[in-house]
Amino acid sequence: MVKKEITSAAKLKKKLGGAKAELASRNKKLKLSVKAEAKKKEEAKKKVEVKKKADAKKKVEVKKKADAKKKVAKKKADAKQKADKKKADAKKKVEAKKKAEAKKIEDAKKKEEAKKKEEEAKKKEEEAKRTYEEELEEQLTEDEIKNFAIDKTDMDKLVNRVTEMIASYATNGILQNILWRKLKLSSRDGSRLALKLEKLGNITREKILENGRWTYLLLIKKIPISTISIENAPCLVCPVEGKCSTDGEISPKTCVYIENWVLTELKTKKRHETN
Ligand code: SF4
Repeated sequence: MVKKEITSAAKLKKKLGGAKAELASRNKKLKLSVKAEAKKKEEAKKKVEVKKKADAKKKVEVKKKADAKKKVAKKKADAKQKADKKKADAKKKVEAKKKAEAKKIEDAKKKEEAKKKEEEAKKKEEEAKRTYEEELEEQLTEDEIKNFAIDKTDMDKLVNRVTEMIASYATNGILQNILWRKLKLSSRDGSRLALKLEKLGNITREKILENGRWTYLLLIKKIPISTISIENAPCLVCPVEGKCSTDGEISPKTCVYIENWVLTELKTKKRHETN
């Protein structure tokens, strides 16, 4: 019985030893497996890190490449922009030049038209300037002008009277229409009379623009010698005319007839002028 128990203990011991050995082997295997796992993990981690690094490097390189590409693209875009701007500027310049030339042509055209208009206006103005008297001068001969006469009128008297009237305005002269109104002459007769007076050398006519119309200012040139002015002189019928002298006893300086006559003539002249 005891031997059986001993045998059993030995067996148990052996079994225990075997189990121990197996456990140790298993432990060893387990340790190895854990180590291997850890190593594997470490390697995997390293790989991941290496991959990460490689990826990051790749990323950086890709970024660098992309940046470089972007830079090149930007450079190209800038160059294109510059070239476009240059082109646009050149186009603008050409257009501006074209515009300037067109404006020049247009201005020259306008100038030419303005000149034409001005010439036409001048021509019209010149035509408008032509007076009735100028037409008369063209139509009538010098003799016809000099021999102009108004029906039932003593032309010598009229010429003298008108000349004296014009002379009374001295260097100021008188507008012909005012004079014809004073003399109650028609402008047709007045114009002919003025031409006659000018041809006779008694007056000059100055063409002037009055209230937008061309007319003539009549100015004295030569006062005609007229017997009218001495027609009623007392000396012509004076009984003592033979004894009369400027330094004698009977003298025009003291003559009452002469004095009266002069006063009467002056009054008559003034009356004519106011009429
Ligand atoms: S100035 Fe007298 S006085 Fe002499 S001539 Fe004449 S009117 Fe006669």
